[in-house]
Amino acid sequence: MQRPQPQSFDRVLSSMCTEPHPAAREAAERYLATNPGDPATYEAVASLEDRAVELLATLADHPTPTDAAGYVASGGTEANVQAVRAARNRRDASDANVVVPESAHFSFHKAAELLDVELRTVPVDGDYRARTDAVAAAVDDATALVVGVAGSTEYGRVDPIPALTEIAHDAGAFMHVDAAWGGFLLPFSDHDWSFGDAPVDTLTIDPHKFGQAPVPAGGLLAREDAALDALAVDTPYLETRSQATLTGTRSGAGVAGAVAAMEALWPDGYREAAERATGNAAWLAEALAERGYDVVEPTLPLVAAALPEAEFDALREAGWKVSRTAAGELRVVCMPHVSREALRAFVADLDRIRA
Ligand code: PLP
Repeated sequence: MQRPQPQSFDRVLSSMCTEPHPAAREAAERYLATNPGDPATYEAVASLEDRAVELLATLADHPTPTDAAGYVASGGTEANVQAVRAARNRRDASDANVVVPESAHFSFHKAAELLDVELRTVPVDGDYRARTDAVAAAVDDATALVVGVAGSTEYGRVDPIPALTEIAHDAGAFMHVDAAWGGFLLPFSDHDWSFGDAPVDTLTIDPHKFGQAPVPAGGLLAREDAALDALAVDTPYLETRSQATLTGTRSGAGVAGAVAAMEALWPDGYREAAERATGNAAWLAEALAERGYDVVEPTLPLVAAALPEAEFDALREAGWKVSRTAAGELRVVCMPHVSREALRAFVADLDRIRA
């Protein structure tokens, strides 16, 4: 039987994942049969995971990266679910709620349902960023967590993290930043998003997105151990006595791949990738605006533009993997694998379709 071949990245403009760095690919393969979920048995991958957390904490400007708590999760969804769970467990309110901007990733809806917490979704402003007045109005004594997004999935926007952190802490709640996608771009920007910019409690930052690590490699970081302690359960049959992760057996390949990618690329390789992607997004935004489309000005390298449905469908038929925002705009994520040549070919196809 002819097996389907993995997707080539040539025409993928919709994904927040990308081609892994060659060193990361190789490291992942070497650690395929290891399980960081059982660190006393798989000691080498467990120490690699400590290194992964230290590197991620360095990117996220933790004041003492060697002391940061965290682990390599299966992805941003797991990291966000766990952030909600840690906050709920620490707040100890029977009717806990979580306040998120409407731009938050749908993983928070999964978290709320799984953990039986109320999700309070508040509106964003005209630039798709969380409205601090709306967040302040939504928090109360039972708020366990306030979420800010640093690199939103649809428009790449960065919420006002320091102001949201203040609102959260004034209400006795914890503050979580979802930098699943933005975390490997934001260190090279002026945005306030990190542990260094505000006393945020937990943060999602995924190596398998802009970090160029193989899937699965998400990242959950915590400013202090207490957040992870709130997740720990006893593990009677393992050599270690407790486990804070959501899944049991986990991918050692994900951990090793993440470390190899970060050691190869932090900081210069990531800076170059961020600059190239930013240039590509600006180029595409201008090309679309010149053709008369309404373009949402990119902040991070993600371009959204209003395209008629027939043109969107024709681009998909031409083999372009493009997606749409909830409002129906075309959405192009300028990941490291997206070259200027590919974008030129994309715009040439669009011109042909419009002709
Ligand atoms: N958070 C943000 C901001 C995202 O953009 C995504 C996915 O695109 C996620 C979380 C979920 O990540 P994953 O698909 O790795 O679970």
